[in-house]
Amino acid sequence: MHKKTIDFSKYSSIRLGPVMDVSVIENEADAKSFDGLIVGGAYNLIVTGKNQNLGILGEEFEYVRLEEDKLYVGAAMSGGRIFSFAKKNDLAGFEFIGGLPGTIGGMLSMNAGLKGQEIFNNLVAVKFADGYKQKSEIEHGYRYAKLGGIALEAVFEIKNGYDEVLYEELKNARKNQPKNPSAGSCFKNPLNNFAGKLIEEAGMKGYQIGGMAFSEIHANFLVNFGNGKVEDALEIIELAQKKVLENSGVKLELEVKII
Ligand SMILES: Cc1cc2nc3c(=O)[nH]c(=O)nc-3n(C[C@H](O)[C@H](O)[C@H](O)COP(=O)(O)OP(=O)(O)OC[C@H]3O[C@@H](n4cnc5c(N)ncnc54)[C@H](O)[C@@H]3O)c2cc1C
Repeated sequence: MHKKTIDFSKYSSIRLGPVMDVSVIENEADAKSFDGLIVGGAYNLIVTGKNQNLGILGEEFEYVRLEEDKLYVGAAMSGGRIFSFAKKNDLAGFEFIGGLPGTIGGMLSMNAGLKGQEIFNNLVAVKFADGYKQKSEIEHGYRYAKLGGIALEAVFEIKNGYDEVLYEELKNARKNQPKNPSAGSCFKNPLNNFAGKLIEEAGMKGYQIGGMAFSEIHANFLVNFGNGKVEDALEIIELAQKKVLENSGVKLELEVKII
């Protein structure tokens, strides 16, 4: 296991966080001995610097292999690369991954998805340092999965029939997203409701603290105008939760992970 220096104000999609040394996990033995927090593509993270023990998967975990009726994907692979592979090999069920930023490891942990499709749909099993866990052994739901360890590989069942129309449809569904740096949706949608709507109703759409604001384009996107600080982000998140609770009685749960 070697160390690598990452500037999270450049690496993370929300462009926040310190410069830190992280451990690079190169094999299963490293994964077994590492006892810190694992970072994927940092598309869903606010890194505060409080936890100094961060790890990242090395390029050994960037692979995709088609074997009989299964697809084996290293957890460091990006969604975009899986999508391209699925398209080229005429596989169905990966169209939504085309527009999702992040690694397969991060997507498993978040059960990432779009418009009713999510990463657990075609999943068969996840490989960890001590072996495979079947999907049925992993508790999961809307935007969460209790992996209980570092995911090293995902195994998917495959069906033929890549669907370009579905891909275009899903791509268009993302057109209302702001272009400023963000970590995607800040809060999870409460049951039968929308976090963005609740934020707007609480008067927080467009609200800004320092360089961070809830976007005018989509209120559930916490965006960085370039000079945002971790402290601004934490303050505005807390304020939004308070305002929404006061206004509508709903306690917004974070989708973004603060580590
Ligand atoms: C513009 C934008 C749009 C987005 N749109 C969507 C969307 O439509 N739908 C959606 O679901 N998400 C969306 N996201 C969020 C993001 O794409 C997903 O959450 C994605 O799964 C993050 O992957 P990551 O590799 O960057 O994970 P990270 O952000 O690095 O980590 C997320 C979590 O996964 C854990 N993790 C990472 N790797 C592993 C591993 N190998 N094993 C175990 N745990 C691991 C981390 O510890 C952390 O808890 C969006 C983000 C952005 C910036």
